[in-house]
Amino acid sequence: MNIKNISVGSLIVLAITLAGCSANPVTGKKDFTLISKDEETAMGAQGHRDILKTMKRYNNASLQAYVNGIGQALARKSHRSGIRYTFTVLDDPSVNAFALPGGYIYITTGLMAYLNSEGELAGVLGHEIGHVTARHGVKQQSASIASAILLDILAKKTSAGNARSLNQFGTALIRGYGRDHELQADQLGAEYLARVGYQPQSMIDVVRVLKAQEEFDKLQARQEGRKPRAYHGVFSTHPSNDKRLQQVIGAAKRFKSAGTRSTNHDGYLKHINGMKYRIDKRHNGRIVVGRATTRGLTYAKLARRSKVGEQRLRLLNGMFPKGQPVHGRLVKIIN
Ligand SMILES: [Zn+2]
Repeated sequence: MNIKNISVGSLIVLAITLAGCSANPVTGKKDFTLISKDEETAMGAQGHRDILKTMKRYNNASLQAYVNGIGQALARKSHRSGIRYTFTVLDDPSVNAFALPGGYIYITTGLMAYLNSEGELAGVLGHEIGHVTARHGVKQQSASIASAILLDILAKKTSAGNARSLNQFGTALIRGYGRDHELQADQLGAEYLARVGYQPQSMIDVVRVLKAQEEFDKLQARQEGRKPRAYHGVFSTHPSNDKRLQQVIGAAKRFKSAGTRSTNHDGYLKHINGMKYRIDKRHNGRIVVGRATTRGLTYAKLARRSKVGEQRLRLLNGMFPKGQPVHGRLVKIIN
C-alpha cells in the first residue's frame, strides 16, 4: 500500500482514537498530542541525561548562574510557569540553542560568543521557552509517533516501532522546527522579553546574528571553493525586511514593561570575558573584552592583536560585513 495515498485527515482521526488531546498552554485550545504532561517531563529528563552524556556542561559556575537567572525570570512570565525549567550552557563550538520537551533548555558557548547583549541572550532563551510553552517538541514527537503507528498498522508489525520512536529525541536546532513554529517561538520569545522588561526588538537582533553567520559562511565558502553549509533555512531575506517577523515582534511592544530594562551590552560582555572559543579544529582561544578607547580604531588594527581575522572579529561583535568599533564601547577579540 502506498503511504502517499493516506490523507492527513485519516492520520489525525486514527491518532486521536488511539490517544487523545490536551489543552495547549499558549492557545488554550485542544491540541493533537499523544503525550501527557508527566510523560513529557519524563521524556525531557531522559533526554537531558542523554545530552549530558554526549555534550559537556560548560565548567563555569558563574556563567551558568547568569544564564539560569535570566532564563528563570523569563520562564516565570511565560504561559507555563508551573513547570521546572533547567537552563544549561554547553561547552560546544557549534552555534546552537535548543529545547527538549518538559523545560530543558540549552545554549552553546559557540552561540554565546556571537551574542552582544543580555537582551540577545534573553531573546534566545525566550525563543526556546516559546517552543516549550507551545509544546512544539511534543507536537513533533506526536506527529512522528502517529506516523510510526500508521506505518506499523500498514506493515502489520508489532508495536515495537512505537516504543522506538518514543525514545528518539527531536532535538531541534535553533531554527529547526519549520517556519510556522519558529515564527510562533519568536512571537512568544518577544512577549516574554517584553514582560521581563527587555526590548522585544532584541529578538530581531538574534535573528540578525544567525543571518550574519549564514552570510559569513557563504563568503568563506567562496574563498575556500566549497559549498556553503546548509543552515536551517533561517530566512530568505534579511530579518528587517521580513514583514511577518516584524509584525509578531512589534505586537509585544504593547506590554508596558517593554524596554524598562537595559539591553545591557557591557554587562553581557563582562560575563563572557575569558570564555573558551574554538578558532578552528586544532586551536582554541579565549574571548578577551576591552574598551575601544583609541581614536580611529578599526577591526583591521584589532585583528593584529587577535588570533582571528578582521571579518570574524566583525562577526563576533555584531558588525559584519562592514562596521567598525564604536569609540568608547566594549569590543571582543580572541586570544
Ligand atoms: Zn526554534
